[in-house]
Amino acid sequence: MKKVFINNIGRRKFLKTSLSTLAFATLPKISFAQSNPDVVVIGAGSSGLSATAELMQKGVSVLCVEAMNRTGGRCYSDTSTFGIPIDIGAHWLHGFSENQFAKFGKKHKDKFKIYPEDAPSVVYDGKRKTEATELWKIYKQLKKIKRRSRADVPFITLVPEKIKKNTWFDTAASMVGDSRDLDNFSPHDDNVNWYDPGNGDGLCREGYGSLLAYYRKDVPVKLNTIVSEIKWDGKGVQVVTNKGTISTKACIVTTSIGVLKAEKIKFTPPLPVRKIKALDGVSMTYSNRVLIQLKKKFYKAKKIKNDTWFNTKCNSNGAKSPKTYYGSLKMGGSDVSLFGMSGQFAKDIGEEGDNAMIDFILNDLKSTFGSKFYKKYFIKAKAIAWSKNPFTLGAYTGGIPGKSNNLRRELRMPVGDRIFFAGDATALAFSTVHGADRSGKRAATEVYTSI
Ligand SMILES: Cc1cc2nc3c(=O)[nH]c(=O)nc-3n(C[C@H](O)[C@H](O)[C@H](O)COP(=O)(O)OP(=O)(O)OC[C@H]3O[C@@H](n4cnc5c(N)ncnc54)[C@H](O)[C@@H]3O)c2cc1C
Repeated sequence: MKKVFINNIGRRKFLKTSLSTLAFATLPKISFAQSNPDVVVIGAGSSGLSATAELMQKGVSVLCVEAMNRTGGRCYSDTSTFGIPIDIGAHWLHGFSENQFAKFGKKHKDKFKIYPEDAPSVVYDGKRKTEATELWKIYKQLKKIKRRSRADVPFITLVPEKIKKNTWFDTAASMVGDSRDLDNFSPHDDNVNWYDPGNGDGLCREGYGSLLAYYRKDVPVKLNTIVSEIKWDGKGVQVVTNKGTISTKACIVTTSIGVLKAEKIKFTPPLPVRKIKALDGVSMTYSNRVLIQLKKKFYKAKKIKNDTWFNTKCNSNGAKSPKTYYGSLKMGGSDVSLFGMSGQFAKDIGEEGDNAMIDFILNDLKSTFGSKFYKKYFIKAKAIAWSKNPFTLGAYTGGIPGKSNNLRRELRMPVGDRIFFAGDATALAFSTVHGADRSGKRAATEVYTSI
């Protein structure tokens, strides 16, 4: 672990904090080597790691605490299941042309292969491959409506009845909502609140999670440390954890909106009304992952190229949350394929358990590729429902229609000049890894100028 660098400014601040903490002498002391730092960063996902790195660079004494036994949060590559790094959360490097992780990865060619996503796309009608002309036609129409509207209303209300009646509508709907059902998607949030200088999508063969982990390999993190309360009634802040209480001048909260909305962290005194209102205006989306390892002969037999987009026709009879999924076949040239489910359907099937998620995908693949599909090609599967992870409680955020105006700005606002907020929900390019990373840097700069 890298030692925290304390320069003259940092040392002065550090001494001041140590004195101020005498006021809390009765509280159990935390046994961390770096106790009572100037700043505590809560969470070691993309944003928390970034905030910590930025503060270290500025010479501020900082402690990053993380509830899980690993860093990365929702951007993590699992190596234990398939023997190769496979993303169980974030996978695509959005805003590719300006994505800082992509730039970093390209500089480390010996470790990472970074490439733009220009994969082919295949569509099946449930049984056989199809050109899906109708699907692409209404998909383009929906995208156009989505791009042009600034209305803070449920997107579904903007869709003409004629499109809704199309037999490909459920499939197209699941492709345009960014993991949200169309009755829960605000074009305002998407078009007005969003800003990203980059464009396009890219991929990292070794996994986005591996790339993030390497990018932040020198950031020290105290793992298995669960924050349960943030007290800001006295001077400074006391961060109560399962391992003791840390006294600090300021903290940066980077936990997901899901965690905050579920009040997993108590604020004493409670957060001000405008912050509560902002939290009320946003919700987590649901996005499940099912990763399936298939025999190489499957990809060969079906002539599947690396990272091929896969969609299958869904007919949910206009259900609010289409019961469908998408895929990215042969990830990075490996024998593992990624499948995803979204919206309320993802939440519901996630509740049923991992086997229900895996069976749903396998049953459809069987109907698409033949009843012998499982016996002939299946090796192994892993399912992840992010709504069930107690430290994320969902995948990423979306503004609730009718409540999205100024939403992201309010989510970013600090409280009492000592509680700062970072994380994907506060980012300009929200709900992304690179946006979360930038939000961490922004919050660190705010803290630095205020303590
Ligand atoms: C399935 C899925 C697919 C996605 N796809 C993409 C994609 O392709 N591209 C993309 O750019 N983005 C994608 N995202 C979104 C992206 O992963 C997130 O926006 C980003 O990783 C969030 O980073 P963060 O630091 O804001 O939050 P997190 O990664 O959630 O980090 C917060 C950390 O806080 C910790 N924590 C929570 N509670 C506590 C507590 N009480 N005490 C201490 N620590 C706590 C958590 O364990 C976590 O590590 C995807 C997300 C999911 C789930």
